[in-house]
This record gives sequence, structure tokens and C-alpha cells, in this order.
Amino acid sequence: MNLIFLGPPGAGKGTQAKRICDKYNLTQIATGDILREHLKNETGLGKKAREYINAGNLVPNDLIIDMMRYEIEKNRSKGGYLLDGFPRNVAQAEALDELLNDLNDKIDVAIVLNVPNSELMARLTGRRVCPSCGTSYHLIFNPPAKEGVCDHDGEELFQRKDDNEETVNNRLEVYTKETKPIITYYEKQGLAHHVDGVGSVDEIFNLINEGIDSFVNN
Ligand code: AMP
Repeated sequence: MNLIFLGPPGAGKGTQAKRICDKYNLTQIATGDILREHLKNETGLGKKAREYINAGNLVPNDLIIDMMRYEIEKNRSKGGYLLDGFPRNVAQAEALDELLNDLNDKIDVAIVLNVPNSELMARLTGRRVCPSCGTSYHLIFNPPAKEGVCDHDGEELFQRKDDNEETVNNRLEVYTKETKPIITYYEKQGLAHHVDGVGSVDEIFNLINEGIDSFVNN
């Protein structure tokens, strides 16, 4: 089974993706996480991508599509995968279809997490992340047991550079302009399943599971 998670920044894609991957034994392929690793390791791709990421703009398609071709080919031998943060515009969705066609592979369902813009700003500016295991917290809505450190491994939490108000505003605009149209792209293919992304992590997880079951068992 191969899944796509769609939704605005701050919708909870990463949090839910981790749980869904554990449950169905899928590999999470999160473009943002992969790009941040490239930035940290100062690879050629990292150097080219840095200014786009820090400004909240999309990294150019040719770089992303090459990276994803490599990641999907590398991971598909392990079984199913979940694409988190890709595709992010129609050209990427079309490139993904071509790639899957070449590989004789397919997407089973695209889960669309819906959260109103009014909620996203607060979620993103209050987000804190563990550098080691990637767990996301929120200063108010989901604080760690001990202030500033991860519950799982005691690492000091950090704030992503693009989680400030100005960059978040741009990321939300980019989402509306460039990424939202691909919801229609997957609706037309009969693959989109909408989930209300406002509620507890457990409630949303259950809704996603119901969606997956309705597609995969039909
Ligand atoms: P994320 O962690 O998904 O919020 O992504 C962080 C940043 O990485 C985005 O704001 C973009 O600059 C870049 N990025 C992630 N995925 C993509 C993609 N599929 N296409 C272009 N840029 C991306």
C-alpha cells in the first residue's frame, strides 16, 4: 500500500504519518525532513535548497523530482511507503505519476487533512521539534513533560527556522496557490479522502484509518 498525505503546513501530516507508518509498516518519505538533512550535512542539494526553505518557498521542481525518484526507488523494496510533503504542485504530481508508471507502482489513497488557516499560524509558531527523533510538540497545545526537552530521549527541543510568523504567512500562501490544486488532481483520479484535521491526535488517527480501510478494502 502506498499513500500520500496532503494538507497545509501545520495540519499534522508528520505526526499522523508516523503513527500510520507504524501501524501499516510503511516507510515515511517526508520531503521536508530529507531536505533538512541535506541542509544540515551541507550537501550540494542542501546548499541549493537552503534559501528557498528559509523563505518558505518551494524548492525547484527538478531538484525535488530527482531527489524523490532516488528516495522512492531506494525505499520501495522495503514495501509500501507514505509520501509526506510531496507532491506539492501539479508538475510534481504529474512527475510522480510518470515515475510510478515506470516502476509499475501506484498510489492507493491520498489523505487530505483539512485545518482552517486561522488555526495553522498558532500551531506552527508554537511548534517545537526534537532534533533526534523528530517528535513535534507545541508550547501550549502539546507541551513535553519537562519544559524544552523531548519526552522520548531527553534531547533539547528546537524551533524550526521557517516556523516564524513571516515565513509561515508565505508558506500558507504558497500552499493555497501551488499545492491546493493537486487536491482536485487526486479527486479526479478518485483517490482523495478528506479528513477533518481539527480534534485530538487519536480522533484524527481513527478518521484516517477509516479512510484508508474504505479505499484499500474496496
Ligand atoms: P515541510 O517540512 O513539509 O513543511 O517542508 C519545509 C520546506 O521544505 C518547504 O517550505 C519547502 O521549502 C521545502 N519542501 C518540502 N517539500 C517540498 C516539495 N515537495 N517541493 C518543493 N519544496 C519542498
